[in-house]
Amino acid sequence: MMQVRCQRCAWVFTMSRDSIGIAVAEVEASHAEYYQAFCPKCRHVIKIQVGELRRRLPADYVLPTLPPKPAPIHVKKDEDKAEESKTVALPKTETETPPAEPKP
Ligand SMILES: [Zn+2]
Repeated sequence: MMQVRCQRCAWVFTMSRDSIGIAVAEVEASHAEYYQAFCPKCRHVIKIQVGELRRRLPADYVLPTLPPKPAPIHVKKDEDKAEESKTVALPKTETETPPAEPKP
């Protein structure tokens, strides 16, 4: 448990051991020096040093593995695009089939 104080509105909130673990794992993944916490009251960014967070964790604490960055959204987008071009191609050929009408 760790008490974090917002520098802007002086709101004090508590970070649980699990959220500290996730915070350290996130900072290590991004190779940053600070963890950016958000004040639950005013959404102000509070920078917390990694060392500060680590000190709150037990020595044998195993950092949680972060979920992999979402990628399936991109794949789905490509599928939609392919399907879209297919449906667009059909009526297009139909409008092109009628020959140009003879001009008066
Ligand atoms: Zn605040």
